[in-house]
Parts: sequence; C-alpha cells; structure tokens
Amino acid sequence: MARDRVIIAGAGPVGLVAALRLASGGVPVLVLEAGDDLAIDLRASTFHPPTLDMLDEFGVTAKLIEIGLVAPKWQFRDRESGERAEFDLGVLSDVTEHPYRVQCEQHKLTRIIHDMIKDWDNVEVLFGAKLKAMSQDGEGVRVTAETDGKDEVFEGAYLIGADGASSAVRIGLGIGFEGITYPELFVQASTPFPFHEHIPNMSLINYVSDSEEWYVLLKVPDLWRTLFPTRQGEDEEYAVSEEGLQKRLQGILPRDEPYDIVHRTLYRIHQRVASTYRMGRICLAGDAAHLNNPLGGMGMNGGIHDAWNLTGKLLSILKGEEDESVLDRYTRQRKPIAVENVQAQAERNRQLLNERDPKVRRKSFREMQETANDPEKARPFLLRSSMIEGLRRSESIE
Ligand SMILES: Cc1cc2nc3c(=O)[nH]c(=O)nc-3n(C[C@H](O)[C@H](O)[C@H](O)COP(=O)(O)OP(=O)(O)OC[C@H]3O[C@@H](n4cnc5c(N)ncnc54)[C@H](O)[C@@H]3O)c2cc1C
Repeated sequence: MARDRVIIAGAGPVGLVAALRLASGGVPVLVLEAGDDLAIDLRASTFHPPTLDMLDEFGVTAKLIEIGLVAPKWQFRDRESGERAEFDLGVLSDVTEHPYRVQCEQHKLTRIIHDMIKDWDNVEVLFGAKLKAMSQDGEGVRVTAETDGKDEVFEGAYLIGADGASSAVRIGLGIGFEGITYPELFVQASTPFPFHEHIPNMSLINYVSDSEEWYVLLKVPDLWRTLFPTRQGEDEEYAVSEEGLQKRLQGILPRDEPYDIVHRTLYRIHQRVASTYRMGRICLAGDAAHLNNPLGGMGMNGGIHDAWNLTGKLLSILKGEEDESVLDRYTRQRKPIAVENVQAQAERNRQLLNERDPKVRRKSFREMQETANDPEKARPFLLRSSMIEGLRRSESIE
C-alpha cells in the first residue's frame, strides 16, 4: 500500500511537470505511461513567459533556453502586401523574468524532466502501463493498469489524469467533454530549408494571413515548421502527399528545387472542455481537460499552468495545511481560463487568419500594426496572448 503517493496517468508535458513539482515538494509519485517510451512527435514548440517563470524554479527553463531558440519578437504578416505587425515581448519585462517565447519541441521538455526525476527515491515512472480503470473511496484511489499484458492494481492518495485528449480517466469517470470539431484539418510540414535567409525581416514565429490560404511559419532549432488549413473538400491523403505539400511550400517561397520535407502530419482540431476537472480524489489536467486550436501555442502551456495550480493544492493538502475542498477551487480557477481566455484567444487568431474579405483583412491588419507599434496598446494585448492575464485571473478566483 502506498496511500501517501500521487498517481499520475500520462508522461506528457503536463504529467511530468506535475510529477516534478510534487516530488520536489517531498510527495512520492507514480507515473503510469501507456507508451514504451516518452512520445517524440512534433507538437507544441512554444513556451510562453509565465511557463518559463514556473519551470525556472527547477532549472528547467535554463535547459530549454540552452537547446531552444529565444524569440523576443513575433509577427503577424500579410502574405499579399508583405506588411508586418511585429510584437515585442520586451514590454512585459516588468512582469516576467522571461520577456520572450522559447521555441523548443515539447518532447525535449519531457526528456529533460524525465532525466531529472527518474532516479529520485520518491519517483517511479512506469512505461508500458496503460490505465484501464479506477475507483476511489474516502482514503484513496485504486488504479488498474495493463502492464505486460496483465492487469495490475496500484494504490495512491490521489490520481491526476494527464493522459491526453482521449483521456481514459475522463472517459472512465463519465465526465462530459463538450465542444466542437473544426471543419478544416491542419496540415503540418517541417523542413530544414532556411526560410529566414530568403524572406527578409522574419521573426522566429510568424502568423501569415492571406485571402486564399493562411499559414504559420515557426522556427525550432533545426527546422522551420509550417502549418496550413486544408481547403473545403480537399482530399486528406493529397493534403499530406509530397505533391500537395510541395505546392504549399512553393507558395511560401517559390524555388527551382523541391523542399526537403522531413516531417508531415495532418490532424483534426477540437475545441472542447471537460464539464468538471475534479471528481473526488481524481483530477484532470492538460489535454485531458481541454482542447483548443494550436494558433497562439497555448495548449501545452495552459496544461502546464493546470499542473502548477493543481500540484500547489495537492502539496498543501498532503502537508495538512488545507483540506480537500480546495480541489473544487481547481475547477473554478482553471476551467473558465481554458474557455474564456485560451479557447477565445485561439479562436480569435483563427478568425483573423481565416478572414477572406480584403477590406476586413486590411482593417484588422492596420489595427494589429497600431497595437504592435504602440507599447501602451501592445501591453494589454501581450499580457493576454502570453497567458499572463489568464493566470492572474485564475489566481483571483476564490
Ligand atoms: C501540431 C500541434 C502543435 C501544437 N503546438 C502547440 C504550441 O506551440 N504550444 C502549446 O502550448 N501547445 C501546442 N499544442 C498542444 C500540445 O501539444 C498539447 O496541449 C500537449 O501535448 C498536452 O500535453 P498533455 O501532457 O496534456 O497530453 P499529451 O502530450 O497528449 O500526453 C499524454 C500522455 O498520456 C499517455 N496516455 C494516454 N492514455 C493513457 C493511459 N490510458 N494510461 C497511461 N498513459 C496514457 C500518452 O501516451 C501521452 O504520453 C500543439 C498540438 C499539436 C497537435
């Protein structure tokens, strides 16, 4: 019996940040990860200032900066006119220790944290352990996971479901996950081609609007990542075919040679939120609790902010400083931020990029430039898009 420990389902960025913070605070943790190793797919690649402030406490931020790219500025660009609205995160230097975004793949964060904690006495990370069922009583939780083709039961004081979008924890508890699935899919292609040497004045992060097809161009250490929406009726297979992707990349910058495409994905986008983040001794965090489109790079960051909030409460409960009722505050504090801040901002970004009417696009672009060029207007915009406003709001909720 290990009823003093916290069980975490999922060794993604959210589960591992939760494990790091709990174990650092002296609480034993067991992480159950369905995969045989940490996932290495290309997903999140942006760390916002408040996330860097949080991870700094454990020396993780310095490691991300060492292997990632520091992006003090980011841009909206108009594909047709070539005009830019460039935002400088330096205007936030009085409210964050890290007035920049760090561009680094999320699988490097999980590797950093796993390497840090894997040999700690109070941490156990079990790979190939897929949570199948769970139950709870007044004393603790019991989790059944499949390991090596057998069912094994694990006991703990609390369970965090950080097991991603198709969360077995959320589904097992019967918690609703209302929202929408977008009609368009997103196509992602990565190439080592140095766009920055050919397109003048680019930032490391560029959201490019266009009357035909918008795209996002993001730099990570060895690659440029591009992201496009699919067109209505477009064949899914064609969208990620060599020909389909070459056409899109040639549309960004025409070249005589084909692009070297080293990674490609096509994925469906959802905007959903769990009806509650807590059921007794079991809580949801990260993609298990909420999904949003990736425009603005907020999904993983918001999940890490959940993990931060929740582990703060679990640490105080397990030290006997607060009672379990603070866990209800977790839903109260984090759910509205997922809906009214993160999803709303991501949807605004999508609408801005999707706008086809040239007049409306021109007007929005002018407004964006005015905001970017005036520090007094840029500040509230950046507080919102950098997720600082959402965190402040969540902390103010009782
Ligand atoms: C293309 C793309 C680009 C993105 N870009 C950004 C970005 O720039 N910035 C940003 O903040 N977000 C971004 N996101 C979102 C981000 O990737 C997710 O929000 C983030 O991965 C959520 O982390 P998580 O730990 O909650 O879930 P996941 O990363 O999905 O991790 C869940 C883990 O749980 C494991 N698991 C699943 N089921 C079980 C089970 N039954 N038992 C045990 N383990 C289980 C999985 O194997 C996995 O390791 C992007 C997403 C995509 C798809």
